This record gives sequence, C-alpha cells and structure tokens, in this order.
Amino acid sequence: MVVGATFSGVSSTALLTTGQVSSSGAFLIFSLGTIGSLLPDIDSKSSIPFKVTFTLLSVFTAFAMIFSKAGYSLIELLLLWLGTYFFMKYIVMELFIRLTVHRGIFHTVPMGILAGMIFTVALKNLFFVDSKLAVWGGFFIALGFLVHLILDEIYSVDLFNKRLKSSFGTAFTFYKRDNLVGTFAIYLLIFMFLPNIDLSHLFNILSSENFYAKLWQTFLPNGTLFNGLLKF
Ligand SMILES: [Zn+2]
Repeated sequence: MVVGATFSGVSSTALLTTGQVSSSGAFLIFSLGTIGSLLPDIDSKSSIPFKVTFTLLSVFTAFAMIFSKAGYSLIELLLLWLGTYFFMKYIVMELFIRLTVHRGIFHTVPMGILAGMIFTVALKNLFFVDSKLAVWGGFFIALGFLVHLILDEIYSVDLFNKRLKSSFGTAFTFYKRDNLVGTFAIYLLIFMFLPNIDLSHLFNILSSENFYAKLWQTFLPNGTLFNGLLKF
C-alpha cells in the first residue's frame, strides 16, 4: 500500500503540475491509485484489505444508488441505502468468498485492466465525474493494481539465497491455467467494456512530447522559492 500510494502520489502530482487535472482531481486519482494497489488481494478472505475494501465498496455502492435516485423521499432513500448495503455486504461478499481462491483469477493483469474500466464507467455514470477525469481515475486504479502485482513478483525472488520462491510467476500473469473459464470471462468483459471508454485523450497526453517538456519545466522552481506558500 505504501508503494502504491507513493507511486500514485508522484504520478498524480505530475498530472497536477502540468495542468492535466485540478487539485481535487489529483486528490481523487491519488486515492484511486492507492485503492487500486489494495484490490488484487481482496480475494484473500481473512485479510484486512478484503474486509475494508468490501465494506467501503458496499458503502460507496449504497451512496451511488441513492445519489442516482434523488427524487425519492428521505425514508425511501434510507431504505434503499440499507437494502443496497446489506445486499453488497452479505450476499455479494458471501458469493465472492465462495467463488474465489487467493491469488486466483483476481490476481492477474487483465483483472487490473478490467477493474480500471469498471471504475471509469462507474465514476462517469454513478458519480458524475467528467469523462476525462473518469478515464484518469480508471487509469490510476489499473496503475495501482499493476504496481501491486509487480511488487508481489519482486518479493518472490529471494535475493539473499539467489533462488526463486515457489510463488514466482504467479503474481504478474495474464491468465490462470487452472481457471480458463474465469480467464476467458475477464477478457470477454474487457472487450464488452472497451467501446464505452474513450481512451483517446489519455493516449494523446501520454504520447505528446509537449506533456513531457512541460513536466520537465515544472521540475525546478521558477524564480522565487515557495512563492505564496501561506496563501490559500
Ligand atoms: Zn498480492
């Protein structure tokens, strides 16, 4: 989580100083990057990340539900909130526990990409985030997710004994041989989500020389140091 938070902190700062996102946008994508770095282990049932992530997910889904149904009375909204929360926490979570194994299909590269896509669509349609920021948000989820997988892989190399632990090659993978149906389902979902996500803005920025030139420019102070630091 520390590495995930650091990585997304640095990346979101780069987008902020080059003017790609606002301060609030930077905070959002930083938070999402950190969440993304916790997601791969949500399939280990006893882990704190699993419980925290699922409880948070239930709370967010419940709020998303009532925000999109703003016309109802408060009593109806309260009932809707409770219904969604308990449905997520006790039915979806139970199903999830029964259907997944740790470091199974949830702990793969395509799942990270799919998670990014799901977040992009949810941010745009449930939380009314503007479409460019929603794509950055999904990108940061995927980024945090991949940082986690790479770290797990790095830790599977026992540096001092110069040998590979048995877990080598199980973290950063593109498929699971023992779960081909799940693997196929994930790739199918990616192709289903793809037409709903406009990646052109993201690719334009990341491939433009201008962006990197600007990033380099903002690296060193411009004239005075900490100009206006105490003005908010
Ligand atoms: Zn992991």
